[in-house]
Amino acid sequence: MHEYVEELLSPYIDDELNSEERKAVEQHLKTCKQCREEVEDLRFLKTQMLSAYKTIEIPDIGFEQEVIRKIQILEAENRKAFSWKFCTALVIGILVIIFALLKLSPILYASLRVVYTLFAVGTRITHALLVIVSDVPYLLGAFIIVTLILIVISGWSVRRLFGTKTTG
Ligand SMILES: [Zn+2]
Repeated sequence: MHEYVEELLSPYIDDELNSEERKAVEQHLKTCKQCREEVEDLRFLKTQMLSAYKTIEIPDIGFEQEVIRKIQILEAENRKAFSWKFCTALVIGILVIIFALLKLSPILYASLRVVYTLFAVGTRITHALLVIVSDVPYLLGAFIIVTLILIVISGWSVRRLFGTKTTG
C-alpha cells in the first residue's frame, strides 16, 4: 500500500486524482509518517517552483510590455516623421510647380497669344473672304477669271523667261 500511495503523492498534490484514489491516499497519510513528510516536501517544492516561476514570469511580462511600448513609440515617431517628410515634400513640390509656372507663364502667355492672334487673323480673313464671296457672287467668277488670267500670264512669262534663257 505504501508504495502504491507513494506513486500517487505527486498527482495528489496537483489535485489530479479521482475521488477513490484521493480517499486511499488520505487514509494512508493518517498512518504513514514518511508519506506525510513527502507530501510536505512536495507541497514546499511546488510553492517554491510556483513563486520562482512567478518571479521569472513577472519581469518577463514587464520587459515584453516595455519592448512593445518602445516599439509603439518608435512607430509613432516614424509615422510622425513620415508625415512631416511627406508634408515637406508636398509643399516643396507645390512651390516648385508654382515657381515654374510663374517663370514659364510669360512664355506660355506669349505663345498662346501668338497662336490666338494667328487663329483670329486666319478666321477673320476666311470670314471676310466668305462674306465677300457670298454677298457678291459675281466676284467669285471675277476672282476665278482673274486668277486664271494671272496663271496664264505667269505661265507665259515663265515660258518666255525660259525661252529667252535657252535661246540667248
Ligand atoms: Zn506511506
